[in-house]
Amino acid sequence: MAHSAAERVDEQRLWRRHMELAAIGATQKGGVNRQALTAEEFDARRLLVTWATELGLQVFTDDIGNLFLRLEGTDPELAPVLTGSHIDTQPTGGKFDGAYGVLAGLEAVQAIIEAEVRTRRAVEVVAWLNEEGSRFTPGMMGSEAFAKLRGLDEMLNVKDRDGVSVSAVLPEALAATPEAIHRPLGSPVAAFVEAHIEQGPELERLEKTIGVVTGIQGVRRIRVAVTGEEAHAGTTPRATRRDALEESSRMVAALYRGLYIDDDVRFTVGMMQIEPNVPSVVAARVVFSVDLRHPDTETLADLADCVDAICHREASMCEVEIWQIAEAQSIHFNELVVDTIQAASDRLGLANMRIFSGAGHDARQLHFVCPTGMIFVPCEGGISHNEAENATPSDLAAGTRVLVETLLELSET
Ligand SMILES: [Zn+2]
Repeated sequence: MAHSAAERVDEQRLWRRHMELAAIGATQKGGVNRQALTAEEFDARRLLVTWATELGLQVFTDDIGNLFLRLEGTDPELAPVLTGSHIDTQPTGGKFDGAYGVLAGLEAVQAIIEAEVRTRRAVEVVAWLNEEGSRFTPGMMGSEAFAKLRGLDEMLNVKDRDGVSVSAVLPEALAATPEAIHRPLGSPVAAFVEAHIEQGPELERLEKTIGVVTGIQGVRRIRVAVTGEEAHAGTTPRATRRDALEESSRMVAALYRGLYIDDDVRFTVGMMQIEPNVPSVVAARVVFSVDLRHPDTETLADLADCVDAICHREASMCEVEIWQIAEAQSIHFNELVVDTIQAASDRLGLANMRIFSGAGHDARQLHFVCPTGMIFVPCEGGISHNEAENATPSDLAAGTRVLVETLLELSET
């Protein structure tokens, strides 16, 4: 029975919906700019609700504006099985990051309906609010509020660059879909499964269609401030300079040399702020970022210690301050969910592999609340957070078939 529902997944319909959704906020270069809580995102919410209503799904929303599309189960009292991702994008984002998880969920539900399968638990498709955190920083607001990892008020008070707060625009998001019924934040969930493009090159390189995701790697976000002194570029001898940029450059070079202790290390200095940032003045202060990731939590802690040691070692005339702005542990998904995804992939005859996610996802937050897992499909060249992001219709459909089987199994537990 389960197999027949997976066969109902319609590759063309799934692809068409991706293209239709991508038209909202479409950019010149073929990407998407549909940031959370903007007019484009409101249009996307409306489109989703239109599709859901055609399928006879009930629509719900909550205090942070997460959107839920519910296919009722035979036992409405039971907590639903949840699937989905996000519909917001980076300012120069692609057509598939996030959108795939939501549209795969909708397609899976449609396939279940068309196969005339009745699930015991309800199946709900969710679009989590503001995963990317572009207009309102930081992201993952919807899933963090849902999982009660951060206070709702804290998020509602977040302001964009123009000083507009989340609480000021959220009513507009809710008004975009007046048919949505309000429900309390953090209603019970039996399990969560998120389908997503890999955003990395491994599946393509190893010619696998499905990534059975075992967890999400941890990250440490660090800032290093190096303070020297402004001086005249023409008259100040080297010996008396306290050049913050010279010492920062030495630190960054030493970090690149010292931190790559194995192939799993991901180390990035993506931001450097120089003061006064004037061509003929010795830099008085430099603040640079360190983004450090590793699947192993202990190794990640060691690497963070190394950042500290290396920067202090390379400082001479300047003062150095180092502080951590964010830390997330590596997490491991529920074995039952991982095994269910694995078994479904095998049954469907799809080439698959276990994979650890390098990027963060809403599934991180949900894993604190309920048994959680993720399904990855390849994306072209591993390119993501980029307007050139691409995936094939058949891979997207294959991931959705795995999702159907996974949802059907979890909805009977
Ligand atoms: Zn995403």
